[in-house]
Parts: sequence; structure tokens; C-alpha cells
Amino acid sequence: MCPTVTEFTFELRVCQWAERHWPPTGDSSDKCVLIARQLGTNHRRWDTIVIETDRRRLAERARFGADRLDGDLLRVVRNAPTEWAYYRDVLPEPSYPWRYVRDAIHTATDRGILETRRRGNRVEIRRKWEYPDWVDRIVAIENKPDLDASAARTLTEQLQHDVALALADAVWVATRATGETVEPALLEQLPVETGILTVATDDDRASTDRGTDASVVWHPRSLDRTAVGTRILDRSADNESDLSVARFEYADPEWKATKRLEIAERAYERGWRSYVDSMRPDCRWFSLRSIDGDVLPWCGANACSQSSAECSGRCPSFEPEPPNWRTRGWPLAGGPGAAIKRLLDEQRRRHRIGLGE
Ligand code: SF4
Repeated sequence: MCPTVTEFTFELRVCQWAERHWPPTGDSSDKCVLIARQLGTNHRRWDTIVIETDRRRLAERARFGADRLDGDLLRVVRNAPTEWAYYRDVLPEPSYPWRYVRDAIHTATDRGILETRRRGNRVEIRRKWEYPDWVDRIVAIENKPDLDASAARTLTEQLQHDVALALADAVWVATRATGETVEPALLEQLPVETGILTVATDDDRASTDRGTDASVVWHPRSLDRTAVGTRILDRSADNESDLSVARFEYADPEWKATKRLEIAERAYERGWRSYVDSMRPDCRWFSLRSIDGDVLPWCGANACSQSSAECSGRCPSFEPEPPNWRTRGWPLAGGPGAAIKRLLDEQRRRHRIGLGE
């Protein structure tokens, strides 16, 4: 259990580095970022996502609450008028029955982000606030601490899909720094549009004495999110004996714009600290530990930073918090495990409104 650096641990470190230091070029001005992990589309899930925005628009987005706005809610709040109007007169014609639009209107009203009133048997709506255009750029980072030849082959194919679709504005690969004169990642056949970051872990620091957390070894090219994208469905093998034809379909810019906003909204809700929701902070061995400036989950039973896959009710070392822990000065809401979740939730909330920790 617990190899030196699991992909999960590496990913949490990349998220924390990005939260502190993005953009890697150092040109931050008044920008701020939201970091999330494991989000994307039905076809593709990115490891780390960076949403670039600024504090003013983040504050405007915050008025709509911490929960994400799904596609139905976005359609309502983005098209709600400043003056009262019958909802069917002002909202775009849906491709599904209007009753689902009414459901979304009721949900928005219950969440306090839309005003409604009845005029006879008609429902009228009015916006409370303008929904801000709060997403500047979406950057996808694939985390591969150990980029051997086989991992690079698989990754190359995924990155080619990302570049062809251009749903994100830029794509990076984050890999573990080796300290070699030429980083091995540069020798792999990754798409030239992909940026490469080398990240120093604890062990690397001890052996190479690196002063920074991550270094850019290859800058990415910006992808054109406003252009028609290509979704590669199937491709022929890269050899002469495979005569099959590649299959693909186009993704129009409107689809991409909608999908980007939905991804940003999910990132806004989840952040990267939601990892704890799929672990067992209620285990007596679970804690958070600061390791070289990064806060990572820590398993006292195995003396390592555990992955979310390992930290489950099926773990052979799992032991629930003793009930008396919950009466030794801990609030009634729970013991140390619940306190850890509250702490991470509070940090997530502060980043959502651009305050940091
Ligand atoms: S469930 Fe408990 S013992 Fe198992 S990995 Fe998580 S913290 Fe460690």
C-alpha cells in the first residue's frame, strides 16, 4: 500500500501548485484561478482543470450561490429579462417540453437567483442579477508522474483528441521532474501544442535541491475555442497494414461554448478539495498533513499519503473514529473527520469568492 508518489497524490500537489502559482509564465496581474479535478465531458475527463477569471467577476458569480448552475438553469438565468415578462416570451424555445423549463424556473426561484410572479395563469420572470461572463480561459492539465513510453503512447492519443476538439484553451502535461539534462517527456511524441510542466515532489527535492515546485519545459499553443472542433471517434492504427478509415464528427462553436460553461460551473461547485468526499475522514487514522508546503491526506496506519481508492470502507485497516472522540470538545456535528471536511469546505468557499486561504 502507498507507493512513494501515487497519481492521486501527485494530482493533489499539482492542484495546490496551480492554485498558488498559476499562470506558470508569472503574468498574473489581477487574475485569479479556480482549480478543480476530474471533470470534462462524457468522452473525456481531465485530471486538473484551471479556470482563469478575475476577482470582480468571481464575486459576481458568487451571487448565484455555491452550487453549480446546470444547463437548464443557465438557460433561464442568462436569458431572464430586467423587466417582468412571460417566460415563454423571453426564454429560447427549448428542444424539450416547456414543463421542464418551468421546473428550472421553480428551482432558480427556490435558490433565490430569479424572481417570479403569477399574472392570471401565466408565470412571469425577472432577473435578480446579470449572469456574468466570468470564464476567461479553461486550461486542462493531464498528470502523469511517471511518463514511461507506454504511458506516453496512451497520453498522446488523448492529447490529440483534446487538441483536435479545442474545448480547452490550452492543454498541459504535468510530469515528475527527473533532473536529467533533457526531460524524458520532451523526447516523447506528444502533440507540439501541448505544454509540459515538470513538478518536483519531496523525493525529487531531496535529490536535486530544486527551488520551485514546477517548471515549464515546453510552452503550449493556444487552442481556438471559437472554431469548429473535431471529435475523433475512431482512428486507424499508425501502421501500413491498417487500412481502416478514421471516423470523426464536428463540434460546433455553440456546443463548445455551452459545454465550457457547464464544465466551469461544475468546477466552481467542486473545486479540488472535494476529493475528501470520496475518502474516509471518519477513520481514526485519517488526518491532513502538510508535506513540503502541500496539504495532503495522511493515513496514520500506513504512514503515508493514501489515495482515494485505498481510503475506503474496504480498506483492511479502516477503523471508525471512537464514539468518545466526538465528546472530547468536538462540536456535536462530529469528530475530527467532520472537522476536516468543514475545514476543506471553508477553504473551498474562500477560493470561490477569490479570497484564498
Ligand atoms: S481507511 Fe483509514 S486506514 Fe484505510 S487508508 Fe483511509 S485512513 Fe488509512
